[in-house]
Amino acid sequence: MQVRFWGVRGSLAKPGLSTLRYGGNTPCVQVLMDDGRRIIFDCGTGIHDLGQEMMRSGENPIKANLLITHTHWDHIQGFPFFAPLFVPGNEVNIYGPGRMGQELSNTLSGQMIYSYFPVNLDSLGATVKFMDLGEGVFEVDGVHVSACYTNHPSLTLCYALETGGVKIVYIPDHEPHSLHSMGSEIGVFPIHHEDQDHVKFMEGADLIIHDAQYTLEEYSSKVGWGHSPYEKVVDYAIAARAKRLALFHHDPLRNDEEMDELVEKARQRANGAEFVPEVFAAEDNLVIELAEDPKAKIPVVSKKESALLAGSSPEREKKVLIVDDDRQMNRLLEATLQEEEGIRFLHAYDGKEAVKVACDELPDLIILDLELPGMHGLDVCRAIRGNENPDLNDVAIIVVTGKRFEQNDVLECFAAGATDYMTKEFAVSGLRSRVRGWLMRSSFNIDRRRAWRRSGDVRRMIEEERRASKGRRTSDKMDS
Ligand SMILES: [Zn+2]
Ligand SMILES: [Zn+2]
Repeated sequence: MQVRFWGVRGSLAKPGLSTLRYGGNTPCVQVLMDDGRRIIFDCGTGIHDLGQEMMRSGENPIKANLLITHTHWDHIQGFPFFAPLFVPGNEVNIYGPGRMGQELSNTLSGQMIYSYFPVNLDSLGATVKFMDLGEGVFEVDGVHVSACYTNHPSLTLCYALETGGVKIVYIPDHEPHSLHSMGSEIGVFPIHHEDQDHVKFMEGADLIIHDAQYTLEEYSSKVGWGHSPYEKVVDYAIAARAKRLALFHHDPLRNDEEMDELVEKARQRANGAEFVPEVFAAEDNLVIELAEDPKAKIPVVSKKESALLAGSSPEREKKVLIVDDDRQMNRLLEATLQEEEGIRFLHAYDGKEAVKVACDELPDLIILDLELPGMHGLDVCRAIRGNENPDLNDVAIIVVTGKRFEQNDVLECFAAGATDYMTKEFAVSGLRSRVRGWLMRSSFNIDRRRAWRRSGDVRRMIEEERRASKGRRTSDKMDS
């Protein structure tokens, strides 16, 4: 199997003398399997050269599977310049995050309206199919793909491919949920549950391609921008016991010499660990060969865990409960999320009222302040999780607090049953994408459980309960 980097630069294409060695094209990576099957990650400006090479190869017709992480410009700007799209007979299957009221095809066609581009999406020669995704698993040409939301100011998926005994993980845009770790050594497990799941997603990978746009020092002034400091990425790769780590999504302001320094520091950090992955920075045109094992079994794709949103029933209205005694903040949170379609907002202004509204209305998501009159936010969390209605097990609770969170606060928050936390200094785009992600997950779990109850699939529910309570016990143990 061959992995080839066609674009590695984040945010903005940056051709020029300062980026000659590492490259200036925005994200595009091709995975070419030994039998010619092909998966392409993202269509930044790098896909232009890839398309030209595919046309020169004489392959006819061309079949390409394109996995898009999100629709920020740097990940889709090359799409209208991907030459195979213009040839009748070619087939391009495009996968990417779909969401309430805004499907992938609409966003891609939006950048091809007449004001921006002379050919619109409907006039392309090739057969183009769109598949909207949520979190879960699916299959592309016999390759097992897992999709998971990242922490980024736009609804973003990352992908893990598994085939021929090889696992490749692609996470171009992601920011840690918290910088806290279980200990002070390098490569130890993070404490935020989402960061733990992030490490598990990468576990045992042969190659991780990961956002490493900043250093920890730079990151302190870029919190909420949706990108990672390389130090944390090295730690994650070590904790995930990955074999190789390609630092990716390079900052447009970082020149080749500065990139050399960053790679050297990343290697030094990795060398301090017990398990040392091979660390390097992705470069335009860099090729990595990974040996496939023809006898390796491909993991089974479970239909119940399918990431494919296509064909699902029309979306029901989602309920978001905002709990904050500060009425202005309560209104501000609603205003921030108002552009999201299909949401009904519920409000509560003290702890007891919050528990009552949650039990009566069974919301899909709760945004919860901690310092509440009458009942502390963490007690509200405990009361909701302790309720016997199973829908309240699945509701996502995002704690939003005005204070700076220290390690013990995070642990206490998770022990009380919170799903996530944010400080009130949140960026509007960060809050919106976090809410979208949690709303998709939480309502998916609630709907799935309701469907099992309707169909009487009690066995499945019990299994799930056991798994959840085992997960809770494990995290309690880790929290202590
Ligand atoms: Zn990006
Ligand atoms: Zn982005």
